[in-house]
Amino acid sequence: MQTQVSSFPKAVKNSKGIPVTICHGDGIGPEIMRAVLDILDAAGAQIVPETIEVGEKIYLSGNPSGIPDEAWKSLRSTRILLKAPITTPQGSGYKSLNVTLRKVLGLYANVRPNITYAPFVETAHPDMDVVIIRENEEDLYAGIEHRQTDEVIQCLKLVSRPGCEKIIRYAFEYARAHGRRKVTCMTKDNIMKATDGMFHRMFREIGAEYPDLEKEHFIIDIGAARLAQTPKRFDVIVTLNLYGDIISDIAAEVSGSVGLAGSANIGDQFALFEAIHGSAPDIAGLDRANPSGLLLAALQLLVHIGQSSVAENIQNAWLRTIEDGVHTADVFVQGKSKTCVGTREFAQAVIDRLGQKPAILQPVAFNNKPITVKTKQYQPAVKKLMGIDVFLDHKPRDPEALGMTIKKLQTPNLELQMISNRGVKVWPNGNPATFCTDHWRCRFKGSGNIDHNHILELLAQLNLADFDVIKTENLYTFDGEPGFSMVQGQ
Ligand code: NAD
Repeated sequence: MQTQVSSFPKAVKNSKGIPVTICHGDGIGPEIMRAVLDILDAAGAQIVPETIEVGEKIYLSGNPSGIPDEAWKSLRSTRILLKAPITTPQGSGYKSLNVTLRKVLGLYANVRPNITYAPFVETAHPDMDVVIIRENEEDLYAGIEHRQTDEVIQCLKLVSRPGCEKIIRYAFEYARAHGRRKVTCMTKDNIMKATDGMFHRMFREIGAEYPDLEKEHFIIDIGAARLAQTPKRFDVIVTLNLYGDIISDIAAEVSGSVGLAGSANIGDQFALFEAIHGSAPDIAGLDRANPSGLLLAALQLLVHIGQSSVAENIQNAWLRTIEDGVHTADVFVQGKSKTCVGTREFAQAVIDRLGQKPAILQPVAFNNKPITVKTKQYQPAVKKLMGIDVFLDHKPRDPEALGMTIKKLQTPNLELQMISNRGVKVWPNGNPATFCTDHWRCRFKGSGNIDHNHILELLAQLNLADFDVIKTENLYTFDGEPGFSMVQGQ
């Protein structure tokens, strides 16, 4: 089987180190970034910071993306971004800078470790150590939404085979590279059998290539509940974009350390590292912010560019600082913590402990294994046109009358099979109790070989009869398997 290797290209080192684009961000951003860069510098990280300005100032200067051309230029050259949080101005017209960066830079994997540091940081789950790997580009986040009738708006959920394959392989490779034992997949494939079903099926298929790792699957609702109640049972979780978005916040919240979590956004060509919290305007400029989330993200960056031993040294010093009870206000607990420090003092405390290891918490040992994702080349399936779903905007809530009228308009090649409303069959033999909106789907199946001319003929008939066709979906089989879902009640 042919494979396509997609690994992050080796960063280009100049005489001083690897150029990294740095965004100081808004609110507490500049304070925590200063603290992080001081720690990296003291530990001997070989990076050359290239500062860019993105975010609030750029938005307010009239650039709705928040990202000026110079920033793109730096990103294209370094391909690595360490980003402090950004303030998104209130009001419509401003695009989410984070979503833009993820999509434009192809950052398909969002990696969020959630670890607790009990007994030094308060938490209800002392043994939690879960990494959530979330698909970052597809699913309902494709941003394709349409109002189709007075009553109904649609959001398209797009899930691709290459998208599933890349994130699932990334999760297994990540688990191996980091000495993890188990990968859990979460989907809702009991309902979304085609989209989530493909994600689950590919998890099973690809998982078979990793006999050294335990595999399991949860339906997302019970999976999220278990994650909140018994996070200890999970190790690495891989899931689709929306579920990943939700469960990463659940995991961060139950770990009790939202201010301590960093995340990595990884693509084939680019990578972005950031804290999971926002710009905290309420404490901006007060030297009170905890720089740990951004610091731990920066350590993921160092591992990513092959400077694992520097990352290890910093993380162990940081664990020692936490263990010594030197805490910023957000995690300080009277009687448990020893010293309440500001951002700068905290950074200095970490620097003072470089070379030390924690005495009680587990010291970290990163390895330098790069994560390489090899994707398969699939043979395209044989695709055959079988029929069409025609969606109508039609006000009278009378499925019987609609069915009888449309039946008369069918063509010799395309026969009306059924009509559904919000996915429930309402004609023929619908249940009178089913509530109907103004959004109807009429399914026509072909007799014999059909082509696009037969479809145009049917649409012309409906148009002549003054039906408002709002959209159509062709019905195909792929290698003989239906590529469309059945209808509830069909
Ligand atoms: P937030 O995370 O900024 O703040 C929530 C609460 O947590 C506040 O009380 C804040 O003081 C506290 N907090 C956050 N980080 C902290 C830290 N490092 N140390 C100590 N306390 C900390 O969330 P928000 O108030 O909803 O959002 C503020 C702004 O940040 C908004 O403009 C939002 O759009 C933006 N935001 C940006 C990102 C990003 O750039 N990745 C992420 C989330 C929110």
